[in-house]
Amino acid sequence: MTEAQTTLENGETFQFQSEVSRLLHLMVNAVYSEREVFLRELISNASDACDKRRYEALTDDSLTPEDGAYAIDIQIDKDAKTLTIIDNGIGMTREELIDNLGTIARSGTAEFMAKSKKEGTQAADLIGQFGVGFYSAFMVASEVVVTSRRAGHDTAFQWTSEGTGEYAIAAVGDDAPVGTRIELKIKSEAEEFIDPTRLKSVIRTYSDHIAIPIRLHGGEDGPETVNSASAIWLRPKSEIEPAQLTEFYHHVSGAMDDPALHIHVRAEGRIEYAALLFVPGQAPFDLFNPERHSRLKLYVRRVYITDDCRDLLPGYLRFARGVVDSQDLPLNISREMLQNNPVVGAIQKALTTKLLAELSKTAEKDPESYSKIWDNFG
Ligand code: ADP
Ligand code: MG
Repeated sequence: MTEAQTTLENGETFQFQSEVSRLLHLMVNAVYSEREVFLRELISNASDACDKRRYEALTDDSLTPEDGAYAIDIQIDKDAKTLTIIDNGIGMTREELIDNLGTIARSGTAEFMAKSKKEGTQAADLIGQFGVGFYSAFMVASEVVVTSRRAGHDTAFQWTSEGTGEYAIAAVGDDAPVGTRIELKIKSEAEEFIDPTRLKSVIRTYSDHIAIPIRLHGGEDGPETVNSASAIWLRPKSEIEPAQLTEFYHHVSGAMDDPALHIHVRAEGRIEYAALLFVPGQAPFDLFNPERHSRLKLYVRRVYITDDCRDLLPGYLRFARGVVDSQDLPLNISREMLQNNPVVGAIQKALTTKLLAELSKTAEKDPESYSKIWDNFG
């Protein structure tokens, strides 16, 4: 028995929130063709975690990784039939493991689940609606072991579950590296996901746009970086495939639909920024929730800052999703400083004009698709 397992026996067992149990049930019974998206979801979380650590390290240098570099490592163990996704991102404390991997925080979940049960919604729609991506691991795994150490904390914790009613948490000491390691015991009917060729193809399909390297270990050769690892919004338009845009939209929006339209802007005048914005193809279920606000991600010179900057678009365009990357804001900008900020104001003005122009172009050229947008968000 390994050390971790021994310690786990001294750990604590928790029940999943009932919505989570129901969701897990859907995941476990997901249709075969939907399964491969689990990897996209776990890579997306790993990438977000690296963004968060990079951001926190701006104001606390002790949080910077030793070699200063962020990466996502994917390890295959054919004998043990495990697939492990490792990031050196922000990591999670014990409380964060409980909150993030034991509940669904978003309001309206219960109602949506009840409705989807009636209408036979598939797992993929749920992932899209709630950003419950982590739980999709149970589409392919009979057991998931998450070992995580929060940056700036000494002790690592291990979260283990078979995806039925409960999960366990135990401390695993202080020699684990900062970040998160997610080990999946791959189900026998999902063994394609320990085949390096299959994995490479899934990663390239869904995660090529991830801006940090994704390295695959355990193939024929040494570790291999599988994605192009560059920020898609800074690439020339002509080099971006439509499918890559759609995947990026899925990543930033947490939704699974096809975007109705997008705008890609690189402004290089008085105010320098790049933006890649999408109008979703479907209205999210909580569109009219007054607490809902613009979910654009703000980056400053490729460093993720926040997805809570309300002033990047006016309220009536809050359905748009995407990223804005500014050259002119300071890296250590706080949320308060973003309010009434002249740079943000100028970007909002420019983006509003561009988005409205693109919408009226669509109204002219493709009235059908425009009327769908209008039905969803008008
Ligand atoms: P979402 O990504 O939409 O928030 P998920 O179900 O994918 O939903 O993940 C739930 C939460 O768990 C994340 O918001 C994050 O706080 C936490 N989390 C998941 N994976 C990681 C990871 N690799 N590192 C740090 N935190 C993570
Ligand atoms: Mg996620």
